[in-house]
Amino acid sequence: MTCKHCGASISENEEKCPYCDSYIDHPARNSSYNNGYPQNRQGFCVQGPDEPQALFIVISLMIPLLGIILGVINISGGHPKSGKLYIILGAASMIFLFGCTFLFPMMFALIPFAHMK
Ligand SMILES: [Zn+2]
Repeated sequence: MTCKHCGASISENEEKCPYCDSYIDHPARNSSYNNGYPQNRQGFCVQGPDEPQALFIVISLMIPLLGIILGVINISGGHPKSGKLYIILGAASMIFLFGCTFLFPMMFALIPFAHMK
């Protein structure tokens, strides 16, 4: 590479130009550094806009636990609107599944007793 200040041909690894004693910019090295360390310091960021996605809505309804996990990921990843929706759908679905599994059989189990008087 060549020195930007004096135009001398210098080694890629030089920090300083040996001819004019000015510091060398390493554009390639700087850009790879930025790519290696994302500027978002939130830890991670969910891709795309904060819009509830049909696929995740279906997942939240079919697999409530996964929906709640998705919601937590979205909220901590910067999508509070979508995240809340997934959690609400997941919780509603979980209550519904719980109702189907435990409450309805109990209700049907009690019907014979209602007829015995
Ligand atoms: Zn130089």
